[in-house]
Amino acid sequence: MINIVLFGPPGAGKGTQAEHLKEKYNLKHISTGDLFRYNIKNQTELGLLAKSYIDKGALVPDEVTIKMLNAKVEQHLESKGFIFDGFPRTEAQAVSLNELMASKNSQINAMIALEVDDEILVNRLLKRGKTSGRKDDANEDIIRNRIKVYYNETEVLKEFYKKENKYYGVDGVGSISEITDRISKVIDTL
Ligand code: AMP
Repeated sequence: MINIVLFGPPGAGKGTQAEHLKEKYNLKHISTGDLFRYNIKNQTELGLLAKSYIDKGALVPDEVTIKMLNAKVEQHLESKGFIFDGFPRTEAQAVSLNELMASKNSQINAMIALEVDDEILVNRLLKRGKTSGRKDDANEDIIRNRIKVYYNETEVLKEFYKKENKYYGVDGVGSISEITDRISKVIDTL
């Protein structure tokens, strides 16, 4: 298996890149944000719980998020590997993901972090908000809060994966295909 954590702040392009990479490398793309939005749309108990956090741009509690992620991985053990998009976002999630992978006799091979300046992120998300229908993309204060949450709670995971020699930074500004090429260069060395 090849398992990749696609990392970066909101608006860095993780989802867009994952869509291309999953085809190219035949991997299963798991986006915790998409899973939450699916649950919200279908008004499940999980969706109702998650919505209050997501609408504010805050993180959904670890316990809930980890349980959802684990269940999704269990459903796709036949796949050649996973692209994790938007997970992990806290150290507890990263530890849990390592344990999950180890229990499958596998591991995370790389964290690939897309680097994009904050003002570009805000502009990209405001633009996306015009068509995404996402409440958390529609309001600049919420967007800035999501970026703040990333720096306060999530960015520290770069150190977590650096310690494991699995961190790769990639310039996240350019055309979609340029960025896919940059990420592919990393994956091809794994
Ligand atoms: P995303 O689609 O990755 O931008 O995620 C949208 C929102 O879903 C985030 O702002 C969080 O509220 C929630 N969310 C997604 N992934 C996670 C996670 N790994 N941990 C906690 N909350 C998450």
